[in-house]
Amino acid sequence: MSVLVLLEQRGALKACAHEAAMVAGTLARAAGAPLYGVYIGKSLEEASSLAGFGMQKVFAYEHDSLGHFCGEIYTSIVNELAKELGSTVIVGSASALGKEWCASVAARLDVELVQDCLEVWWNNGLMARKPVYAGKVLAEVRVINTPAMVSMRPNVVKVERDASPAPEVEKRGMPSSTPRVVVKDVALAPAGTVELTEAKIVVSGGRGLGGPEHWPVLQALCDALGAALGASRAAVDAGWIHHSHQVGQTGKVVSPDLYIACGISGAIQHQAGMRPAKIIVGINKDPQANIFNVCDYGIVGDLFEIVPLLAEEIRKVCA
Ligand SMILES: Cc1cc2nc3c(=O)[nH]c(=O)nc-3n(C[C@H](O)[C@H](O)[C@H](O)COP(=O)(O)OP(=O)(O)OC[C@H]3O[C@@H](n4cnc5c(N)ncnc54)[C@H](O)[C@@H]3O)c2cc1C
Repeated sequence: MSVLVLLEQRGALKACAHEAAMVAGTLARAAGAPLYGVYIGKSLEEASSLAGFGMQKVFAYEHDSLGHFCGEIYTSIVNELAKELGSTVIVGSASALGKEWCASVAARLDVELVQDCLEVWWNNGLMARKPVYAGKVLAEVRVINTPAMVSMRPNVVKVERDASPAPEVEKRGMPSSTPRVVVKDVALAPAGTVELTEAKIVVSGGRGLGGPEHWPVLQALCDALGAALGASRAAVDAGWIHHSHQVGQTGKVVSPDLYIACGISGAIQHQAGMRPAKIIVGINKDPQANIFNVCDYGIVGDLFEIVPLLAEEIRKVCA
């Protein structure tokens, strides 16, 4: 019996990799099982950042051509390693990449997978809590069979390390099988853009923005805060911004520390994507807007006056 954690990287290890390691470490301790990590990428430079999770060993598959996520190779590596280690539980992240990776590993290993968990624990077996019905209900799930997999929603786990040392690193190269797919390049979004589902701060705009020419008003606030830019479906449907920015039931679910909704009424379908945020701020000129029923701080007023003032003050504080 052992626990295996998938350590996501984008150049460096991602925050969600540490969150998954934290969860996997807690499970391993409770189950009395060893914890292993798997890293696939160009080079694992920061194994020391994996101290404090009780991780015995990281299997580092390092090669220039493993830098970008490729479902076929990444999946077959985990598949082989999980069999070799006899992994009982495999923990990944419910990031955009992680959801695909976990799903294909689970399919290949023919094991159960609970995606997008908020909490996972061990109670004579694997237990998980996850949102269902667009976040209206939290389901408590007992996984009956092992091996099994869980993926953790980014930003919900607080990383708290113990005194355990950094894991030993066992370097492994490129697997010998010839891949049918080679990812040659990944075109990143413009510099400074933060992935919505993993962002600590999200600033979203809705129909109240009035048109696509006004996104720079919100982008200036995003830049000041280091935030990701989100949108309501009304803004997306109007063609003002790409669907990849949509927050809500038919968009992305975000769980930042701070969510600022600008010119968004706060429809239930929008709430389904932003209710997990720790602090919600609503900026709306209609005092009766629904967003004020769910926000922690509400500002009644014109976003075109308030947002630039906010951005200016934040720039001053951060200068
Ligand atoms: C099946 C289904 C799935 C859906 N999925 C989603 C989803 O994933 N995400 C989503 O967002 N919606 C979704 N919707 C749509 C949702 O019901 C709402 O229609 C949508 O969220 C409204 O977007 P909005 O708040 O931007 O627009 P509106 O509801 O039109 O609100 C605009 C707000 O801007 C305010 N405003 C206007 N001008 C200003 C100003 N200058 N300053 C400040 N405030 C201003 C107004 O007072 C108003 O409250 C879904 C609907 C259905 C039926």
